[in-house]
Formats: sequence, structure tokens, C-alpha cells
Amino acid sequence: MRRRDFLQNALVGGAAGTLLAGCGGPEGEQGPAVHTGRKVRWRMASSFPRSLDTIYGAAEVMAERVSAMTDGNFEIRVYSAGELVPGLEVMDAVQQGTVQIGQTASYYYIGKNPALAFDSCVPFGFVARQQAAWLLEGGGLDLVHEMFSDFDILTFPAGNTGVQMGGWFKPEVNSLEDLKGLKMRIPGMGGKVMEALGVATQTIAGGEIFPALERGAIDATEWVGPYDDEKLGFHKVAKNYYYPGWWEPGPSLSFYVHRGAWDSLPSGYQAIIRAACHEASVVMQTRYDEKNPPALQRILASGVQTRRFPDDLMLAAREASLQMLEDAAAKDPGYRKVYEAWKKFRSDSFAWFGVAELAYAQFSFSRE
Ligand code: CA
Repeated sequence: MRRRDFLQNALVGGAAGTLLAGCGGPEGEQGPAVHTGRKVRWRMASSFPRSLDTIYGAAEVMAERVSAMTDGNFEIRVYSAGELVPGLEVMDAVQQGTVQIGQTASYYYIGKNPALAFDSCVPFGFVARQQAAWLLEGGGLDLVHEMFSDFDILTFPAGNTGVQMGGWFKPEVNSLEDLKGLKMRIPGMGGKVMEALGVATQTIAGGEIFPALERGAIDATEWVGPYDDEKLGFHKVAKNYYYPGWWEPGPSLSFYVHRGAWDSLPSGYQAIIRAACHEASVVMQTRYDEKNPPALQRILASGVQTRRFPDDLMLAAREASLQMLEDAAAKDPGYRKVYEAWKKFRSDSFAWFGVAELAYAQFSFSRE
């Protein structure tokens, strides 16, 4: 047995681990603990308020895990939207190095590069599992990283809400025609599609939506899903809760890391960041999946009706959405490169998810 093998086998007992890690391995190699003593202090700017405890909570989970895995040597302090920078300026703050890390959603920054939307979601795109598969295993994150290298930013997937609800409507929407003239709070690409369908859309920050809906300044609003929506109280003033939120079928959040800050980390800390991002992703999705069912039950008990968007509306929305993606790809070769790869993955993934997943869900979910 070579000396190195002997020493590594000896680690099983535990005590020798400290010895080996502390003095470096044989043949001059450095053990894992050599770097982990370095003190690092980072600040994280989140795009989200503390009240969104599922999303914001994932940033706290990430920071706690990094601290725990480095015995408190690598501390990340999380700041909610507005504490350091406005929620929608997190990307700028990371790019400029105002903060080393941010928690945000890439579709907020389509003004900088429209294809950044593929890092979070586009209408009629992927559900959470497909989005994760595309990013982490299907080459999506490589394309995303290429785009973000223009901004000196590295990104890591940071969790997902799952399919969002379509939102709260005061009047019933029984056909595409019923959308015409409706005033709705819906930002982003979903808003652009709704506009194409005749809706007068508005972008209103979270805290101001309820009063606007209550006094009739808007007829409808989307937000996230039962657990988050319930906290804003929409069920008290609108009784029709529509689904699905086809504009956000699986929005993926992101941690952004400033390139220079990343490069200055020991490789062990970089691995710890990656692992903590993965864990935060799982925690966020599982919290949503655990908290949404009872929240929906409470909402239904308050006299709200869940309603499915009518087929003619869904078909028109899908057509308008896919056309927007095609138009954007026709205009911009950089966009087209990401879009073509994404579209191929979508085609294959939808064909597969349309078999066992869909058949099982269609048969079983509606029979409870
Ligand atoms: Ca939403």
C-alpha cells in the first residue's frame, strides 16, 4: 500500500483527519481544511421583501449553510429589497461590486439583454423540473453564463415557485372576449401578451396591489400562488382565482456572484457556494409545495372560486407568446442562439413529460 493510500484509509477513524488536513497531505498536497480558515465577509442584496419568506427565506438558507460549512468563517449578510439597493437594481449592484452576491430573477433585466429571460422563464415555457434540467444538465446554464460574462457576473439557479396561479379577477372571464378592456396588474412578458389580447396592463409593486384592486383602479392582478397571495389578502376583494399562470410556469430564481469576488475565493469556498445554492433551491421549491396546499384550502373556505382560463384565451395567449419569441429571435442573433437551444430542449422535454407525468397527473390529481 502506498503511503498516501494508507493515510487516506486512516481518515475513516476521524481523529487523523484533523492532523492530515492541518499539515497538508503527503507529497506536498494541501488538505481540505487549509483554506477553510480564511475569513470572508460578503453582502447579499435580494430583490425580494422579507414577507416573501419562501423566496427571501432561500437566501437566508443559502447564507446559513455557507456559514455552517465554513465554521462561521465565510459570512454572508442578506439584505432585503431596498435596504442596500432597490429590488430591481440587484444586477447592477453585483456587476459594479457594490455587493458580492445578489438574489434575484433574470427576467427583470431583459432591458439589458432580452435573452436573459431564459434564465428564469418565458410564457408557455418550462415547468420547474424542466427548467432545472435545462439549466443544470441540458447546457442552458452554459449559454446563460456566456450572456452574463458581459456583465462580470456568474449565476447559480436559486429555486423555483412552481407553476404560478393566473391571479385574481373581480369579474369572471369566460372567453377571450371577456379580457378586452380589463385593467390588470401583470408585469413582464406576460403583460405584453395580455396587452396583445386587449388587456390594459399595469406594473404595480407588491405592497400597492391590494388597495388598487380594492378601490377598483384595477380589475385583476397576478402575484405568485396561494401561499404568497393569501398574505396580500386578495381573496378579500376578488372572488375568482384563475389558473394556470401560463406566463410563469416555472420561474427560476438566481444567485448572482460578482466575477472578481468569485475569483478571489479559495476553491473550497467556491464548492461550498455551489452546494449551498443547490440546497437553497430545493428548500424553496419544497416549501412552496408544502405551504401552497393548505393555503389554497383556506382561500377556498373564504368563498373564493378557482377557475380555469378558457381554452380560446389559452390558445390565443400561446400563439401570441410563441410569436413574440420568434420575433425576438429574428431580430437578434445572440437571442436566437439561446432560443434555438431552448426550443429544441422544450420540444424533447414536452414530448417526454406529455407521456407518463401528464397521464398520471391527469388521472390522479383530479380524483381527490
Ligand atoms: Ca407572478
